[in-house]
Amino acid sequence: MIRLEGIHKIYRMGTEAVHALQDVNLHIGANEFVAIVGPSGSGKSTMMNILGCLDSPTRGEYTLAGEEVSRLGEDQLADVRNRRIGFIFQSFNLLPKLTALQNVELPMIYAGVPPATRRQRAIQALRDVGLMERANHHPNEMSGGQRQRVAIARALVNNPSILLADEPTGNLDSKTGDEIMAAFHRLHRDGKTIVLVTHEPEIAQQALRIVAFRDGRIVDDRKNGVAS
Ligand code: ADP
Ligand code: ADP
Repeated sequence: MIRLEGIHKIYRMGTEAVHALQDVNLHIGANEFVAIVGPSGSGKSTMMNILGCLDSPTRGEYTLAGEEVSRLGEDQLADVRNRRIGFIFQSFNLLPKLTALQNVELPMIYAGVPPATRRQRAIQALRDVGLMERANHHPNEMSGGQRQRVAIARALVNNPSILLADEPTGNLDSKTGDEIMAAFHRLHRDGKTIVLVTHEPEIAQQALRIVAFRDGRIVDDRKNGVAS
């Protein structure tokens, strides 16, 4: 599903060059459930930006679902992103003036899905995350866990095969964080490929594979047997 070969990312700032990623090689198969860990500044965000086709590597090859994407331009990257990837963020990134249902409908508006289908799919997505009864509520009327479930519904609504989550439990207490991880486990069982970044060891322990970064390199990559 995801194949990175010899990935380098260099940020140039005046005369200085920051080597954010150095010779990263990583294969993630369909239906894997991976946690990316590492200290601040180790390259996790840079890695997620590349995986999510938000940014391109300076060097190396990125093949996503059989398609070489490392050298695509902005518009083509946006197209790959919309077709393949759902994003989930630490801060939920919901629009405060829209209801839960309208937030979930948004990606389908960008994708040109007709209104009636949009409504139907948004309702189903909210049902999938157990939030139908909150459809007409605004984000500020919901708990953090509920907001994150709305964000998960939004990420799923164009049926991406890959979910990328950046610190998805970072703003949640541990019980709510575990509920969000349970939601990821259900999606994993339904066949999604899941990659999440986390600082929290107890969250990483719930993934099936843990990839550790340090100074822009992968320093550990292991299967994790403890998953529920
Ligand atoms: P965290 O450690 O919480 O993941 P980051 O170090 O990733 O935070 O920084 C957050 C944002 O700032 C990211 O979008 C990242 O690309 C950007 N960023 C980080 N370091 C720099 C820098 N030296 N110059 C410019 N932008 C940076
Ligand atoms: P992490 O997410 O693990 O905290 P990042 O990927 O944000 O790490 O950062 C890796 C390195 O790249 C850090 O040294 C950071 O300061 C640098 N960096 C990240 N984004 C930028 C940017 N936009 N411009 C310059 N340097 C950056």
